[in-house]
Amino acid sequence: MKKYLIYTYGCQMNARDSETIAGILDSLGYAPTENEREADLILFNTCSVRENPERKIYGKVMQLRQLKEEKPGLLIGICGCMPQQEIERERIQSKHPEVDLVFGTHNISRLPELLEEAKDGRIIEVWSEGREDAALPARRQDDLKAFVNIMYGCNNFCSYCIVPYTRGREKSREPEAILEEVQELAASGYKEITLLGQNVNSYGQGLGREIDFAELLRLVNEVEGIERIRFTTSHPKDVSDRLIEAMATLPKVCEHLHLPLQAGSDRILAEMNRRYTKAQYLDLVAKIRRQIPQIALSTDLIVGFPTETEEEFLETLEMVRQVEYESAFMFAYSPRVGTKAAAMSGQVPEEVKRNRLNRLIAVQNEVSAKVSKRYLGKTCEVLVEGASPKDPGELTGRTRTNKTVIFPLPHGEISSWKGKLVPVKITRALTWTLHGVLEEEAYETGAEGGSRSGYSGNGSLQ
Ligand code: SF4
Repeated sequence: MKKYLIYTYGCQMNARDSETIAGILDSLGYAPTENEREADLILFNTCSVRENPERKIYGKVMQLRQLKEEKPGLLIGICGCMPQQEIERERIQSKHPEVDLVFGTHNISRLPELLEEAKDGRIIEVWSEGREDAALPARRQDDLKAFVNIMYGCNNFCSYCIVPYTRGREKSREPEAILEEVQELAASGYKEITLLGQNVNSYGQGLGREIDFAELLRLVNEVEGIERIRFTTSHPKDVSDRLIEAMATLPKVCEHLHLPLQAGSDRILAEMNRRYTKAQYLDLVAKIRRQIPQIALSTDLIVGFPTETEEEFLETLEMVRQVEYESAFMFAYSPRVGTKAAAMSGQVPEEVKRNRLNRLIAVQNEVSAKVSKRYLGKTCEVLVEGASPKDPGELTGRTRTNKTVIFPLPHGEISSWKGKLVPVKITRALTWTLHGVLEEEAYETGAEGGSRSGYSGNGSLQ
């Protein structure tokens, strides 16, 4: 039996695509392996958002030259966002003869034909649009939590971002196809789904029918068996009152919102083409917190955008302190060829970017530690995922706000707890992880049903 190995880089969208690629390969009779030497096909599902991972991917591909010499039948492929850029396709063609197969984000369903063609020589097939909304097989990475694409691409053209060029224009999936996928997941025992899109708040545009993201959440909330609904990513300019109301009232929608800020200065936000100001962002946060007081916010931040001054960077630090994010993805600006920002004058020196990034991480860590302490003494609803990786005598799971919680196995087998929603009293709050104990009484009286506000006791966070 032929074997495959997929290396996945980047966002959840890529992780979800790798699940589909694995599902297609399974259906062709391939089996997965973790061992490069056993593999007959090694695929790199790539990300283009920053330059460093791209360099690493090329380095790793080149390391396989030796293996390919020893095993001439080995096929090496590059797919995902990198080949969507012409400059990267040219680089692969001219500098990487070891690569047999190149395909883009819209060509995944063509994988069976492309594999056949690659046996006769290198094949490159990259469409700029035309991804089908077909029901493709998938090998899911998890048996409790699943990603579900609701849309592909992005129309926003933030000036630093390559995604509209690699993933194409925004295209929503039909709600029936999404619901069918969620129902199948529920029937297979999945408890939590994350709805995925570059900008989920604009879901439905272009479908030519009366549906928006709030309505989609309502439909998904009806699916029996699914206990929790998450989604990512939300552009702040598109968070509607209808969405906030849906989040506040739908019992399965978790109290966690990823709301990318990117920068704290109005001038930089305008240069980034983000189309909101600091004041508008803060008003939005205040409105969300009024209606969903337990909400946990996370964000994305970029430092060292072209022309960013020290004072403007300090405004980002100030926003982090003011909004009090539970966590953040923080990056030094990385120019991407073809984007508007890459051609701007006033690029910030690397050492300045590194220095700002380190200072930002330090401030966010302080804020995360402070926010985490607020969980102490509260009782949280936890979806049990299994044994703690560090101690098989403990269980791990997540709160509705997406914090990891570890607590001792009360009794029985680990497997009998997996997938259950249980109340855990938090007794220790580290920056990224909470520790606690099961509130047996609440659990035994049947409280595991997943109430809207978790378990109250002395005032629950979620
Ligand atoms: S919203 Fe902006 S940052 Fe996000 S994918 Fe679209 S262009 Fe990129």
